[in-house]
Amino acid sequence: MDNRIVYLDNNATTQMAPEVTEIVERSSDLYGNASSMHDFGRKAYAGIDWSRKELAALIDASPDEVIFNSGASEGNNTVFNIARDLIDGGSARNRVVTTTIEHPSIIETVKFLKRRGYRIDEAPVDITGRLDMDKFRALLGPDVLLVSVMTGNNETGTIQPIAEVTRLAHEAGALMHTDATQAIGKIPVTAHTWGVDYLTLSGHKFYGPKGVGALYVRSGAPFEPFVNGGHQEGGRRAGTYNTVAIIGMGKAAELARLTQQDEHDRLWAMREKLRKGLEERIDNIVVNGHPVECLPGTLNVSFPSAEGESILLYLDMSGIAVSTGSACATGSLEPSYVLLASGLDVELAHGSIRFSFGRFNTDADVDYVLEKLPPIIERLREMSTR
Ligand code: PMP
Repeated sequence: MDNRIVYLDNNATTQMAPEVTEIVERSSDLYGNASSMHDFGRKAYAGIDWSRKELAALIDASPDEVIFNSGASEGNNTVFNIARDLIDGGSARNRVVTTTIEHPSIIETVKFLKRRGYRIDEAPVDITGRLDMDKFRALLGPDVLLVSVMTGNNETGTIQPIAEVTRLAHEAGALMHTDATQAIGKIPVTAHTWGVDYLTLSGHKFYGPKGVGALYVRSGAPFEPFVNGGHQEGGRRAGTYNTVAIIGMGKAAELARLTQQDEHDRLWAMREKLRKGLEERIDNIVVNGHPVECLPGTLNVSFPSAEGESILLYLDMSGIAVSTGSACATGSLEPSYVLLASGLDVELAHGSIRFSFGRFNTDADVDYVLEKLPPIIERLREMSTR
């Protein structure tokens, strides 16, 4: 097979859809400040208004519950800042419950808040990355202010039962937040049906532009701006509107709404073809995450006796882009905290690779990986036993 370029890192970020690129280009002359009352401003605002409706339709929300921002890191920080503000204001509830596998924008915020004395508990997950519901339930109580559990994990793809988690959080009288960044456009994300109070998303994970996102805030839920200043977003998020990016994300939301079901099935079929193909061709591999409750395009695999970074670099030389869950800390590679938190041993966590499919992948990409990867693993395993 000829050399190809195969991008299998769609959980890190996605290429903009051609329809998004087209509307971004077309909107780039909407330079008026969307807060201005003149014609230039009104035209820009009309685009933002349209985008807000599209986002709301995608996530089962009302348009006025959608607050545009810079992305999911900001959204997650905003929610934890609301909790902090309520606790500082003397709320009788002063504990937060989250999980051990959240995105770093929550994990690091939790560390920051704990250093300042806030009470936060992290519920554990099982080997498939699913929340341990008994332990989660045991952490709930009358002092819990906020529960924050992600919808689908960026590394393993494991999906959490958000409707059930929300029901339990509300039964305990707590507010409920979910980081749905990885789930948007892949599985139905339904703010009203689930009943969540806050929900985070980001444009660049579903073929929209980077640096733009939205936070869903249930009508009537407590709110405190994280970015203070002008009156944009009804005083809930200051800063001149990033009109073009917001319109681009609106287009991405429309596409996601229209294609989600078909895309789900197509992505799952490619994922399963790759999983089965790897299991047939390579001895002794471990598929991480939940076998069924999994985002359709995510496949996380450990290759014992082969290091994740080496596999990644060899694949890169063949034109295949994947990722490892490892983080580079002070010059050494730390294994994925998500896999360690799921109970995977350190060696397996070190040898893990995340393949994440997207809208532009085809079956031919899977065939190409199945051709290139087995000899790479064989070579690395030979080297490690030499
Ligand atoms: N949450 C999750 C689950 C993510 O995967 C990401 C992006 N990797 C983020 C939050 C942060 O998103 P952003 O890049 O928009 O800040």
